[in-house]
Amino acid sequence: MVKHYIPSTLKEALEALDKHDCYIMAGGTDLMVVKHQRSGLIPNFDKDVCYISNLEELQYIFEDEKGVHIGAGTKFSDIEENELVPEILKQIIHELASPNIRNMATMAGNIANASPAGDSIVGLYLLDAELELVSVNGSRMVPIKDFIFGVRKIHREKNELIKEIFIPHHDDLNTYWRKVGSRAAESISKITFAGGYEVENGKVKDLRMAFGSVSITCVRDRKTEEKYIGMSVEELHNHVEDIIKDMGKFVQPITDQRSTKEYRYKVAMNILKDFILTIE
Ligand SMILES: Cc1cc2nc3c(=O)[nH]c(=O)nc-3n(C[C@H](O)[C@H](O)[C@H](O)COP(=O)(O)OP(=O)(O)OC[C@H]3O[C@@H](n4cnc5c(N)ncnc54)[C@H](O)[C@@H]3O)c2cc1C
Repeated sequence: MVKHYIPSTLKEALEALDKHDCYIMAGGTDLMVVKHQRSGLIPNFDKDVCYISNLEELQYIFEDEKGVHIGAGTKFSDIEENELVPEILKQIIHELASPNIRNMATMAGNIANASPAGDSIVGLYLLDAELELVSVNGSRMVPIKDFIFGVRKIHREKNELIKEIFIPHHDDLNTYWRKVGSRAAESISKITFAGGYEVENGKVKDLRMAFGSVSITCVRDRKTEEKYIGMSVEELHNHVEDIIKDMGKFVQPITDQRSTKEYRYKVAMNILKDFILTIE
C-alpha cells in the first residue's frame, strides 16, 4: 500500500527521502494531473509520497551580494509579488497558469517537472540560475542548464530535493519576454522566448536568447550569443538574418495537439527578429 509522509522539518523530509522511494509533492499541480484517474477513483500513485508544501524552511526569498535566493517551497504568487525577484520572472509568472494555480504551484516543481513547455525554466536559463540540491549526504549546486537533460528528465538522486533556486544579479540586463499560447490564462505554451541584452557606448555588451517549447529542453547557446557581442547596435541589426540562421539550427519543434512544427518555427523566428530589432 502507498504511504505518505508529512515531515515537519527539512531534516525529517530528507530522512524520509533517504529511507523510502517517494514522489516529492510540492503544490501538486503537475503531480496530481499525472496521477489523476477518472472521477470517483483516488489518484494512481504507485509509490510513496512525501509532502513538502508545509515546510517553512523552504519558503523564503532573500538577496545577498551575489544574487537572489528563492526557497523551493515558495509559491509562484509570493515570488511574483516580491520586489527582489527579477522583472522578467515576474512577467513570466504573471502569464503562467492562473491565480489559483499560482497560489499552489512552486518554481521548483516547474523545474523538476522538466517539461519543454515549463515557462519559468526559460527565464531561469536566461538568467543562468543555479539549483541547490540537498540530501542527508550534504548539498550541491547545479546550473539549471546541466540539471535538465530531456523531456521530464533531470539529474536528481532519489534521496535529493531541490532546496533553493539561486539567481545571480543581472542589474543591467534589459529583458524581453513573449509567450504564445491559445488563450490568455491556463494556456500551455506553444512557444516562449526570453531575450536579454546590455548595450554600452553603442556596443552590445551582452546578448542572451532562450526559447521554450521548441526542443526537448530549453534552447540557449552561449557560443552563438558571443558571436554577436561587441558589435555596434547597427551591425547587430544588419546581422539579424544571420542570427535567425544560427539560432534556427537549435529550434526543432514538433507537431502536437497544440500546434504544428511549421507554425512554431515561423513564429519563433519572427519573435527573435522582433527582439533583435528592439535592441537600441
Ligand atoms: C490548469 C493548469 C495550468 C498550468 N499552466 C501552466 C503554465 O502556463 N505554464 C507552466 O509552465 N506550467 C503550467 N502548469 C503546470 C504546473 O502548474 C507547474 O509546472 C508548477 O510549477 C508545478 O509546481 P508544483 O509545486 O505544483 O509541483 P508538483 O506537482 O508538486 O511537482 C511537480 C514535479 O516536481 C517534483 N518536485 C516538486 N518539488 C520538488 C523539489 N523541491 N525538489 C525536487 N523535486 C520536486 C515532483 O516530484 C514532481 O515530479 C499548469 C498546471 C495546471 C494544472
